Amino acid sequence: MGNLSFLVASLGCLLPSLSHANPLDKRAVVDTCLSTAKVPVFTSGSGDYNQAIKPFNNRVTFKPAAYAVPQTIQQVQDAVKCGSSNGVTVTAKSGGHSYGSHGLGGEDGHLIVDMRNFNSVTVDQAAFTANIGPGGRLGNVATALYNQGKQAISHGTCPGVGVGGLTLHGGYGLSSRGRGLTLDNVLEATVVLANSTVVTASTTQNSDLFWALRGAGAAFGVVTNFKFKTYTAPENNIVFQYGVNPSSASSLATMLTALQDFTINSQPDNLNMRLFLASQTTLSGVYYGSRSDFDKVMAPLLSKMGLSGGQISTNTWLNTLSNFAYGPLQQAVPYDTHETFFSKSLMPDYLSPAAITALSNYWNANARYNSRAWYLLFDCHGGNSSAVSKVATDATSYAHRNATFKMQFYDRTYNGNYDPSWMSFLNGWVKSVTDAMPTVNFGMYINYADTSLSKEDAHKHYWKDNYQRLSDIKAVYDPKKVFEGPQLVGS
Ligand SMILES: Cc1cc2nc3c(=O)[nH]c(=O)nc-3n(C[C@H](O)[C@H](O)[C@H](O)COP(=O)(O)OP(=O)(O)OC[C@H]3O[C@@H](n4cnc5c(N)ncnc54)[C@H](O)[C@@H]3O)c2cc1C
Repeated sequence: MGNLSFLVASLGCLLPSLSHANPLDKRAVVDTCLSTAKVPVFTSGSGDYNQAIKPFNNRVTFKPAAYAVPQTIQQVQDAVKCGSSNGVTVTAKSGGHSYGSHGLGGEDGHLIVDMRNFNSVTVDQAAFTANIGPGGRLGNVATALYNQGKQAISHGTCPGVGVGGLTLHGGYGLSSRGRGLTLDNVLEATVVLANSTVVTASTTQNSDLFWALRGAGAAFGVVTNFKFKTYTAPENNIVFQYGVNPSSASSLATMLTALQDFTINSQPDNLNMRLFLASQTTLSGVYYGSRSDFDKVMAPLLSKMGLSGGQISTNTWLNTLSNFAYGPLQQAVPYDTHETFFSKSLMPDYLSPAAITALSNYWNANARYNSRAWYLLFDCHGGNSSAVSKVATDATSYAHRNATFKMQFYDRTYNGNYDPSWMSFLNGWVKSVTDAMPTVNFGMYINYADTSLSKEDAHKHYWKDNYQRLSDIKAVYDPKKVFEGPQLVGS
C-alpha cells in the first residue's frame, strides 16, 4: 500500500477520498488525537472494547482503527476531526444492528463514533414533538415516550434496534401504514458534518441534506439528535396471529396472490400485518380499531387464504409493542444479544404471477427441506391506503414508497459458524423471483443490508432513481468521503 500511495502522489493526483495505507496502522495517531481532545474512548483490547465490537450479526466482524464514545456534541466534532485529519474513515454507530455490521464500518479500519450516550428522550406534550437521541434503543425509547404523556412514534418492532440506523434508512413497523416510516416523522436532525461543523437539517434548513438523511443518512454525517413529531399512543389494540399451512407450492402461491391483492387494494391504514413464512408460518399484526370492525375487514382475506380461528387479543400500547418484541421492551446495558445469519431483501412494487410461482416453487423444493432457522417475512408495506406509499418516491431519499411487500429473507444458525456455502440458499431464492421479472430493477432495503451485493448493485437496488441526487449531495457535504462504507452513497 505504501508503494501505491507513492504512485498516486507521483502522478500528481489529488487524492479524491480518505483511502490511504492500512488505516489500522493509524490506530496510535488517532488514539493520541482523541486523547488530546479528551474524547472518551474504548481502548483496543479492553473489556468494553471487546464487548462493543461484537456485532449483532456474529457472521460479519470488523476491526476498527479506534473507538470513540463521546458524551457531548463537541466530542463528536473532535472525533470527526481526528478521523478526517488523519485519513481514517469515520462511522457512526447507534444500536449496532446493521445486518452487514455497517455500524462497525462494514470493513476494517474505521474510527467508530459510538452514540450510546446520546439516548435521551424529551417530549413536548403540548407540541406533540420529542427530541430523541440516535443512540436510544427502540424498546427504551417507546417506554420513555409513553411515560411522558402516553406518546408514541412509528418505529420498528425489535426493541434492541438503535434509533440512529433505523431512522436514517427507513423504519417500518406496527404503525407504518397509518403513520409512515420512522423517517417520515422526523422534523429536524442535528448533524455533525464531515468538516466537523454542526448544522440543523429540516425542510427549511439544509433541505438537501435533510432529503439525503431520510434514506441514506450514514454517508452524510453523524446525527446527534432527532426531533420527531409524536402522537398519542392508541390503546385497546387488536393483536392477532393466524397459523398458516400451505400444503404445496400452488397453495402458497394462492395465499400470496390473495395477500398481495388485499395489501394493494383493500388493507386499511389502521391494519398492520405481515406473513412470516418459516417452518411454522403465521399471519400476524395489529389492528387499531374495534374487534367487530377487525372481523369485517379481515373476513375476505381469511376466506381467500383459507384461514380461520387464530389468537386474537386486545392490548394496551406497551403490550402491543412487547407482543412483537418477543421479550421485554427495556433493554439491558451493555446490550449483548447476537445472531449468526445471512440476509437479503426485496421491495417489489408488484410480484407478477410468474414471480409468485417461482418463489413458491423454490420454497417447496428447497426451503421446506432446509433445517436451519430460516424465514421469509412479507411486511404489508405499501398499497393504496399506506401512509408510506402516499409520499412521493423522490420526496425523501428512501426509494421504496411503492413497494407492496417489504420482503426479508433471513437464514440463521444457532450452531456456531455460518458456512459461506449456505448463502446460495437465499441467493437462489431471490434470483428465482428476479429472474421471473427480468426487466424490473427490484428495490432492496439497506436496513436489511445484504453483504453479497457489490457497491454498484447496492447503490442501484437500495436507492434506485434517487441515487444520482444522493451522489451529488454527497459531493457537497462530504467531498473527501470522511463517512465511507462498502455500500454507502459515494463509496
Ligand atoms: C433484530 C432486528 C430487528 C429489526 N427490525 C426492524 C423493523 O422492524 N423495521 C425496520 O425497518 N428495520 C428493522 N431492522 C433493521 C434495522 O432497522 C437496521 O439494522 C438499522 O440500520 C439498525 O440501526 P442501528 O442504529 O441499530 O445500527 P448501526 O449498526 O449502529 O447503524 C446502522 C447504519 O446506520 C449508521 N448510523 C447509525 N447511527 C448513526 C448516526 N447517529 N448518524 C449517522 N449514521 C448513523 C451506521 O453508520 C450504519 O451505517 C431490524 C434489525 C434487527 C437486527
